Amino acid sequence: MVEADRCSFCQEPAVIRGREQAERWCASHLAVHLEDRVREHIRENSLVSPGDHIAVALSGGKDSTALLLILTLLIPEWKEVSITAITVDEGIAEYRDETIESAVSITRHLGIRHHIISFPDLFGADLDTLIRRSGSGERACTICGVLRRKALAEAARMIGATKIATGHNLDDEAQSVLMNVLRGDLVRLVQDSSSGEPDCFIPRIKPLARITEKEVVAYLFVRDSYSELPECPYAGSALRSEIRSMLGRLEYRHPGTREALLRSQAAIRKQGGPPASSEGVRRCGRCGTLCNSEICQACRILESLGP
Ligand code: SF4
Ligand SMILES: [Zn+2]
Ligand SMILES: [Zn+2]
Repeated sequence: MVEADRCSFCQEPAVIRGREQAERWCASHLAVHLEDRVREHIRENSLVSPGDHIAVALSGGKDSTALLLILTLLIPEWKEVSITAITVDEGIAEYRDETIESAVSITRHLGIRHHIISFPDLFGADLDTLIRRSGSGERACTICGVLRRKALAEAARMIGATKIATGHNLDDEAQSVLMNVLRGDLVRLVQDSSSGEPDCFIPRIKPLARITEKEVVAYLFVRDSYSELPECPYAGSALRSEIRSMLGRLEYRHPGTREALLRSQAAIRKQGGPPASSEGVRRCGRCGTLCNSEICQACRILESLGP
């Protein structure tokens, strides 16, 4: 990653180039620059308000670790804001244990409260078992995504959080736009999870949404917090993994592709009409959780997989 150039702000060796190639950063200027950009993104989009208790979704992977490091640094700048890390243990053999260890170690190091919630506790079975019941790994990420979202919301509710912060970076966000288009899922494309609409749901915020995956990795290196962790065994089967490679190639040949996708999404959202009102909210007929239909998505998935 080290370029043979000097930092644009001091004479130290540069560790990374800016996306426009004009600027170069040494380790310490890079850290400050990325922290400033996250601070700016939070301020411009009013992601944090005085009195917030933020539940930080901490998988133990690189994005969520960088998110926790940066939020911990920024917290003293905000009025009466507190954070608690939440880790969802889906139960994925040869993967999750190591990332949980990493999550425990970083929260201890930073002195942050940490709450771990597991699929077996909430849903009676771990993800590996649920996928075996589904008969193939193809739906792994759909099952995992829906249940993890519910687990996070449940844990956030239990600790009295007012916001849920996730570590989605710019690459993740651009991939999601393309995925929703390719699946024809216009509802997801238009939905703005950060709005917290209907107002009884806990709003989700994505403070790293303007930081690239490469910058997240560089940040962890310069903060001495990078560790090589195993990849989820189900990751390769996901559509996201193909889109990730495709977008990587497009971005390399046509810089700015990711931002263009996000601008398209913002333009579509503008045309998409007002957000759903809380009138459509009801309680799931199975688990009693607040949702937009008779039975929540998680209960529908669990029922389809049988006992
Ligand atoms: S890759 Fe898929 S199955 Fe694995 S943790 Fe991510 S969403 Fe879950
Ligand atoms: Zn420098
Ligand atoms: Zn339900």
